[in-house]
Amino acid sequence: MVILLRHKPMKLEQLEIMKCRAGVGGAELNELDNLKLGWEGEGEMDAMIEFVIRGRNCIHLKDYRFSVNQAAGDGKIVRSSSEVQIDNVLIAGDRIFTFEVKKYNFDLIYGDEVWTYTNGEKFKNLMQQVSRQNDAFRHLLKKSGAGMEVYSCLVLISPAQTIYSLPYGKNILVHSAVGKFLERVVRDNRYSYDRLAGFLESRRVTKSMYDAPVNVEVDELRGGVFCENCYVELERLGRDCFSCPSCNEDFDLLSVIQRLIHELRILNSDWPINSLILSKYSGNQISSSYIRTQKRLGNLKY
Ligand SMILES: [Zn+2]
Repeated sequence: MVILLRHKPMKLEQLEIMKCRAGVGGAELNELDNLKLGWEGEGEMDAMIEFVIRGRNCIHLKDYRFSVNQAAGDGKIVRSSSEVQIDNVLIAGDRIFTFEVKKYNFDLIYGDEVWTYTNGEKFKNLMQQVSRQNDAFRHLLKKSGAGMEVYSCLVLISPAQTIYSLPYGKNILVHSAVGKFLERVVRDNRYSYDRLAGFLESRRVTKSMYDAPVNVEVDELRGGVFCENCYVELERLGRDCFSCPSCNEDFDLLSVIQRLIHELRILNSDWPINSLILSKYSGNQISSSYIRTQKRLGNLKY
């Protein structure tokens, strides 16, 4: 069983931080809500998959992103590339499954082409993304020499959501069907897929081409220290301790500075980082001389 951590999407982290430190507009707040829901859904799916593969010889790859070369019209020259991101790749029972997880807090009406909201307005064709992923992933597998079939599912993970007119047997799993489906298909692999997993990891793209730095300068951001879990402003408890009034977690000074460094890198990896910038970014709650000393002692890296 192979389990790796899932990383919070960069855009989600950026918006969470920007919400604390700058004004974000309605459209961004909306995007933040959607990303948060999506992230929640992915965590819920991870828990369900991990529950059934526990102790089994299975492989679970999360957020598998790879680049795809798109041939030009004449099919001869590769002109541009795009990337495909698959929420979950599961190799179990000598079969390969992919799961695209969506968490929405509204009901939908299924359509062979376009799905609609319950008021009749068009939503989108949710299966299009899944079939595109399936094509691209099968193509990649062919290159690895493993010409395996890939069974791709759309997972609508919200238990509160109703999908109307959903036909049976469409590779679409609603919340109540996910566990049963996994119980049915998850078996030990009889063969080893270490080489295949190694190949897939070698093709993994870690930095997405869609990730971009935020659209502000560092000195436009409000200084302060915020909880890395709930993004609430931390309160100083003592000389070496901050505490989150929301989740009650305590943070020592060093971990607070490490978090500040992490935030700056997430927002824009090109920004210079030094003790003065960090001190200002902390809302002058941590002195630059303290930060310099900790760096000299090897406790901080930036
Ligand atoms: Zn907190």
